[in-house]
Amino acid sequence: LTSRLPHVGTTIFTVMSTLAQETGAVNLGQGFPDFDCDPRLPQAVTAAMQAGHNQYPPMAGVPALREGIARKVEALYGRRYDPGTEITVTAGATQAILTAILALVHPGDEVIVLEPCYDSYVPNIELAGGTVVRVPLVPGTFRPDFDRLAAALSPRTRAILINTPHNPSGTVWGAGDLQRLYDLVASTDVWLIGDEVYEHMVYDGQTHQSLATHPGLAARALIVSSFGKTYHVTGWKVGYVLAPAAMMAEFRKVHQFNVFTVNTPMQHGLAAYLADPAPYLGLSAFYQAKRDRFRAGLARTRFRLLPCEGTYFQCVDYSALAVPERDLPEAAFCEWLTREVGVAAIPLSAFYGDGFDQRVVRFCFAKRDATLDTALERLARL
Ligand code: PMP
Ligand code: GLN
Repeated sequence: LTSRLPHVGTTIFTVMSTLAQETGAVNLGQGFPDFDCDPRLPQAVTAAMQAGHNQYPPMAGVPALREGIARKVEALYGRRYDPGTEITVTAGATQAILTAILALVHPGDEVIVLEPCYDSYVPNIELAGGTVVRVPLVPGTFRPDFDRLAAALSPRTRAILINTPHNPSGTVWGAGDLQRLYDLVASTDVWLIGDEVYEHMVYDGQTHQSLATHPGLAARALIVSSFGKTYHVTGWKVGYVLAPAAMMAEFRKVHQFNVFTVNTPMQHGLAAYLADPAPYLGLSAFYQAKRDRFRAGLARTRFRLLPCEGTYFQCVDYSALAVPERDLPEAAFCEWLTREVGVAAIPLSAFYGDGFDQRVVRFCFAKRDATLDTALERLARL
């Protein structure tokens, strides 16, 4: 069998979660909460099932959910997406991104990713037959480097993947970044795929700058979000895509032969829950308290903190630890940290095509305070 993805193994998130489970380590690796969602959510899903919402929904998603998404997006970002033609419910952001890439990218097209980047992007582009063009974020700060981005654009550039708030670095684009992006692409026909799954986790009074807020960018952008992140239900795998109608028509051609539809009762449950803005409007404050608790604890260790403006990820440099393992490359360090210290993390090298190693690992702080405190106690010994 000739592999379509010869360089791909098992995703690092599965590898580290499996190791954490085998060893009984505190799992700060894979990004998911260790606490449950609001009980009103499963209640709303159960009510939908009992009301008989158990057959295929419309291909693009349950209308009430698409209408709720349209209202939320318009209230937050000032752009009206038509639920009929410009919003599609997906099986999480993962399916949305793959479907978008399959719909947009022709064999030989170039697609730009900003490295470090989420691990599904590159295999997705390869499956579509696209050519991956990697543009590094500024080393150390992980901010976009618009000069390098400009240099990477070519007549064959089909799309750029933008992820803000950014996994793994926790950086957040500002309005000025969107404008600089627009200045670069305005005279081209490059599409944008905006991965905004952490849109409701932005800290210190900053606000999420969705591509939807910028009319010039929104006109060429397919924007992805995920209820898994926002509502503490990563296992539900429900997300959505926003895009101008012509682009969405192409997206749906692929979507209908990919998953066709997303499970009906959860869409009804989410539609009911989405009517209350408090859960997503309060999410940044909820996670900022966890970020602050975790950072305060880490500040008392020998790990060096990198900034965290958004997401539920905190990156740290381990090169100043008092143990000899501080000299290990990231993947080996994470294995040692999981097995011997009892805390699982993700090596940043997993987000780079060439495995670039900078002695930085990512912790997920979407955890109960007691979990974070246990991990901190262990990390403080190093
Ligand atoms: N993009 C980014 C940046 C992510 O961190 C994740 C989730 N881990 C996804 C996409 C996928 O989201 P979902 O679980 O909704 O498929
Ligand atoms: N997005 C999550 C993370 O970055 C993991 C999702 C997955 O396991 N694919 O940790």
